[in-house]
Amino acid sequence: MSFQNPVFIPGPTNIPESLRKACDMPTIDHRSPLFGEILHPARAKVQKVLKSDSAEIFIFPSTGTGGWETALTNTLSPGDTVLAARNGMFSHRWIDMCQRHGLNVEIVETAWGEGLPADRYADILKRDRNRTIKAVLATHNETATGVRSDIAAVRRALDDADHPAMLFVDGVSSIASMDFRFDAWGVDVAVTGSQKGFMLPAGLAIVGFSEKARAATKTATLPRTFFDVHDMANGYANNAYPYTPAVGLMNGLNQACGMLLEEGLDNVFARHHRIAEGVRAAIAAWGLKLCAVSPDVYSDTVSAIRTPEGFNATDIVTHAAQTYGVAFGIGLGEVAGKAFRIGHLGSLTDVMTLSGIATAEMCMADLGLDIELGSGVAAAQDYYRAHPAVTHKAAA
Ligand SMILES: *Cc1c(COP(=O)(O)O)cnc(C)c1O
Repeated sequence: MSFQNPVFIPGPTNIPESLRKACDMPTIDHRSPLFGEILHPARAKVQKVLKSDSAEIFIFPSTGTGGWETALTNTLSPGDTVLAARNGMFSHRWIDMCQRHGLNVEIVETAWGEGLPADRYADILKRDRNRTIKAVLATHNETATGVRSDIAAVRRALDDADHPAMLFVDGVSSIASMDFRFDAWGVDVAVTGSQKGFMLPAGLAIVGFSEKARAATKTATLPRTFFDVHDMANGYANNAYPYTPAVGLMNGLNQACGMLLEEGLDNVFARHHRIAEGVRAAIAAWGLKLCAVSPDVYSDTVSAIRTPEGFNATDIVTHAAQTYGVAFGIGLGEVAGKAFRIGHLGSLTDVMTLSGIATAEMCMADLGLDIELGSGVAAAQDYYRAHPAVTHKAAA
């Protein structure tokens, strides 16, 4: 007998039954019009999820990390300068990738728990009179710290400086869960993956390119083969890939986007917000603090929770897995051992969330933290009762 609990890691997320079935396909000819009937609608719907009328969508058999590489290698050349803030493990890893590709990164060190400092970006961009900065990197939602940054403010920083640099946004843990506006924010490359907001298994890198980013591909000289967007575009023109696509995942993506668009993107974002508010109510009731420094940067997809000094937060995650068969996220990098994470994105209901909060309480009590059983659950229950889920009422 195997018992399957929901997971509370910030990706991979829980997979709805209908999407598991959509991914389970017999083999089809991946160079046939039949594949085109999956590929083209999936790309069109991803464009809608990005809130774009013009982004060209590329989908690689890869993960979000491959999406980062797609953004860099197709648009930049060795020695080019990019501007990036480091405020957590994911922004750090994207910076590391830039450096390994021979790019020169102007790093804005930012406290873990704070959002991207758009004002410091603005100063640097204004001072860059020779326009050496070719791209600005922005991690929309820093999954390590549960911090959401203001991408519109980064766009304003570029516009105020009248700076032509491209804007690359990592939306791996925000897109399809929190408001993301490719066109309105003037994003040039958006990066995401299949296993977070899209509620699918890992296996797809999903990227959107603006016209400006597509123009940059013509002069960019970083080496690229697997992630070359021209090869990919040529494949798409023939209902195909330059290599073998992950057909089942593509079918799942097509259906996942259909689900999200049918619910309505703004309803999806509202659902994530209220689920997150319940989790935050629980955390406050426990007397614990988030890594995120202020409400304006609270993430609606993941909460990183600081534990008391001298306590190893990772023990909560280990104990939850061993004793209750439930997965939470560990603290990463600077907050390793100091925080644990509750992922609350994707396919999640109040009932599922309450089970996660209850489990976290049991673990913390088991490990001797001063947590009153039921305190967080009650706080979340109060919040959910006062803010009923729109989708259930509509369904009934
Ligand atoms: C998960 C994540 C990534 C990495 O994606 P993979 O699919 O694991 O390669 C990158 N950035 C952010 C913000 C993430 O949450």
